[in-house]
Amino acid sequence: MNWIKYKTKNIQIVRYAVQLLFFFLILYLAVIGIWKGVLLLVIFGITLILGRFFCGWICPFGLYMDTITILRRQLKIPYWALPQKLNQALHKTRYVVAFVIFVIVLQGFILGSTSFFELTNFVWLRPPFLSYTIFLEPLQVIILPWKPPFGALFEIKGVYFTYPYVGEILMYLQKSRFALLLAYAFVAATLASSFKVRRFWCRFCPTGISFAVINRFRQFRALPLLSLSKDSKKCTKCGICKRVCPVQVTEIYEKKTGKIMTSMCILCLRCVEMCPEQNCLSLGYKLNKTDKQ
Ligand code: SF4
Ligand code: SF4
Ligand code: SF4
Repeated sequence: MNWIKYKTKNIQIVRYAVQLLFFFLILYLAVIGIWKGVLLLVIFGITLILGRFFCGWICPFGLYMDTITILRRQLKIPYWALPQKLNQALHKTRYVVAFVIFVIVLQGFILGSTSFFELTNFVWLRPPFLSYTIFLEPLQVIILPWKPPFGALFEIKGVYFTYPYVGEILMYLQKSRFALLLAYAFVAATLASSFKVRRFWCRFCPTGISFAVINRFRQFRALPLLSLSKDSKKCTKCGICKRVCPVQVTEIYEKKTGKIMTSMCILCLRCVEMCPEQNCLSLGYKLNKTDKQ
């Protein structure tokens, strides 16, 4: 069964509303104190089943970047597209970041200082699993009614303002004045860059690349229930799908026909919405066979 194009005309509005909904749900989960390790498993499970739906429709950091993009559009300021080779190189080099994080955790087991059976440590992402918290940083809600454990940017009358990765920066640099300066510099740099480059942080994000790793394994490729498809007979090679993609996926344009499997796609459906040819691009949500590229 396919997503009919005429139903997707306002899909970005629906997507933004869903992102907002999840923002408040995640804030609620933070307030009640969700088990971090379990949350991490749930997110990776969602990715196994739905592909990178989390990145397009749930991630709060994605919501912040999309909000900045909406602001830029309202101001009619053009975006910058990264050179294609740089974009693809960034996508590949992020595997190193994800690998390093896994190795940091694994070394405890390899050196024998940690037991595989210390499940409660994983449930709360305590040492030796502490570095896995970086995978949850994109979920950081920017306003909290209590002081976050690793610190915040600033506080106004008991309300704390933070940002993804700020807690990590403050924790690893031990809350020094330099750490706070670096945290502000990170916030300023990512906000300014996201204003000109759509979904800027998604080009670097270790969480996103971990999702991409899942979808790269051939054994898992048949799993995602959601994927884009293209009917090449209807494609006029106008190039709109390539231009509107916030993470600069080119496979949609290049693909001849059939199911499109690319680990860079965040399933935002902007290309489906903007393709001028009726039913040329569609979102399928059925179990279909792997279509290798
Ligand atoms: S790549 Fe990272 S920041 Fe971007 S949407 Fe995915 S999890 Fe969020
Ligand atoms: S927007 Fe549609 S018609 Fe244009 S190149 Fe992409 S798939 Fe083809
Ligand atoms: S390829 Fe289409 S659905 Fe995937 S990220 Fe780009 S615009 Fe969104």
